[in-house]
Amino acid sequence: MVKEWVCRKSCNECCGNIAFPKAVFEKNRGKIQRPIFEELELDGEIYPATNDGVCVFNKADCRCAIYPDRPEVCRLYGTIPDLKCPYVDPRGVARTPAKVRRTQREINKRVTAQIKQIEKMRVD
Ligand code: SF4
Ligand code: SF4
Repeated sequence: MVKEWVCRKSCNECCGNIAFPKAVFEKNRGKIQRPIFEELELDGEIYPATNDGVCVFNKADCRCAIYPDRPEVCRLYGTIPDLKCPYVDPRGVARTPAKVRRTQREINKRVTAQIKQIEKMRVD
């Protein structure tokens, strides 16, 4: 049972530029928090790119301006093995500093392997 999820204070590390279903994005256009330099639309999704690489709906206090409407990836983050949060475990419990370091190493290893796989696909 996941207890109430409590993020690290003032953390928005996982809130990068992501794609939104068009209907969700249009519904929440009035809640945009930062300038968009490019807005791409593909297959019913909007990808708003920001200068600082932070999600367009991430507020100054690092909270989500559209929390009830946040996309699926935001709901899954931290709860499944492929999207581990370095700071909070899947039960919603803060990791110890040693576990944070270990989780960061695991994440870096997986991302490096994924990048190598993509590079290999480009060459093949
Ligand atoms: S889920 Fe983890 S990385 Fe994302 S904001 Fe919360 S504490 Fe930070
Ligand atoms: S929609 Fe909310 S939870 Fe998802 S990346 Fe943006 S600010 Fe973070």
